[in-house]
Amino acid sequence: MLDIKFIRENKGLVEKAAKDKHFKVDLDSILSLDDELKSLQSQLEELQSRRNAVSKKIPKVPPEEQESLKAEVAELKPRMDELGGQVKVLQDQFNEKMLAVPAPARADVPVGKDDAENVQVKTWGTLPSFDFKIRDHVELGQLNDWIDIPRGVKLAGSRSYVLKGDAARLESALLKFTLDHLYNKGYQQLSVPVLVKEDCMVGTGYFPNGRDQAYYIERDELALVGTAEVPVASYHSDEMLKEQDLPIRYMAQSSCFRREAGTYGKDTHGLYRVHQFQKVEQVIIAKADEADSEALHNELLNNSEQIMQALELPYQVVYVCTGDLGQGQVRKHDIETWMPSRNAYSETHSCSTFHDFQARRLKIRYKDSNKKKNFCYTLNNTAIATPRVLIPFIEVHQQADGSIFIPEALRPYLNGQEFIGKK
Ligand code: AMP
Repeated sequence: MLDIKFIRENKGLVEKAAKDKHFKVDLDSILSLDDELKSLQSQLEELQSRRNAVSKKIPKVPPEEQESLKAEVAELKPRMDELGGQVKVLQDQFNEKMLAVPAPARADVPVGKDDAENVQVKTWGTLPSFDFKIRDHVELGQLNDWIDIPRGVKLAGSRSYVLKGDAARLESALLKFTLDHLYNKGYQQLSVPVLVKEDCMVGTGYFPNGRDQAYYIERDELALVGTAEVPVASYHSDEMLKEQDLPIRYMAQSSCFRREAGTYGKDTHGLYRVHQFQKVEQVIIAKADEADSEALHNELLNNSEQIMQALELPYQVVYVCTGDLGQGQVRKHDIETWMPSRNAYSETHSCSTFHDFQARRLKIRYKDSNKKKNFCYTLNNTAIATPRVLIPFIEVHQQADGSIFIPEALRPYLNGQEFIGKK
């Protein structure tokens, strides 16, 4: 959520930023609602202070004058009730409209329509070359009896799967390796609920926009999260943090659930786009400082790059253009890892800076050294997401016989094995 004062003072900028992000906003109606609200609130406050003043007078005047003062107080009540009701209606309308306003992208973010206009800023590693006919991850999964999509669909419908044997072990190894990597960098691990209250979804910006992407349990008014970012970022909601404790670095592994509404027919082959997956997410809660935020964004990106380098997977980093940014994202870098079967780099990680967009909604604040209360800045990045990362992993490291090479960094998590699968 943006500060209404910022919107008022930067209306043109916010309108242009919303357009660049493909969001529709009606700032005029937000500003006029704000004007109306302020006027009604000040009328209400005036009546309240009149009522308080008269009420205070009552015990101090002779009994014969008390009746008329009591009548005056009683007369004020219906008008105050009426104004209170109007304020509530307008406040709800105002809040609803404010929740729909996107955060403007940072000035250096490339303006573009969609992901085709994301800008490559880095490549790492050498693309693999094979002297045999390569198999894709589904073929390798079948050959080794590792990936069972038909039975996954039997259990849970489309975009479902079962990982078996060494593929399930590989998934566990990747997750544990990642958690250890982040632990060594000072990230504190949280084990969090994946079924959360509406407030967490609204607070992190996944609701009300994007409501159709979440599985929602009506009876209990709880949503299944699409990422651990939701409970982790919400962990300190409604809190006043200590400046000296910032930045707070968290990581959490969780199951993630996504309806993938609107993607019918897209990425239907294999494990790329599924309804349920595992992810280790990094979340940072920081001071409201642009230079700090930039350094932390780079830190989050660097952590994930180090993980992919240790896994010996070639990747590129792209600076995501305005049209491909989420509502609250101020800037985002994606890591796209080489997937031989797609003959392309494809997204495996998203590193995002939010400034105070989430913290305002979640009411996460800190007091600075001048005792001023500020909203925090939040950032997050994927550390690893599986099964998507299994696609580059088993396709890049495949051998002619269908076995998979295990990079040295991962071997301690797989009983020291240098290869898994057919031999
Ligand atoms: P996002 O939170 O949408 O930026 O996604 C973070 C990462 O989670 C992506 O880069 C993917 O690696 C993974 N991911 C997101 N959605 C899916 C999905 N439907 N199926 C598999 N992996 C996904």
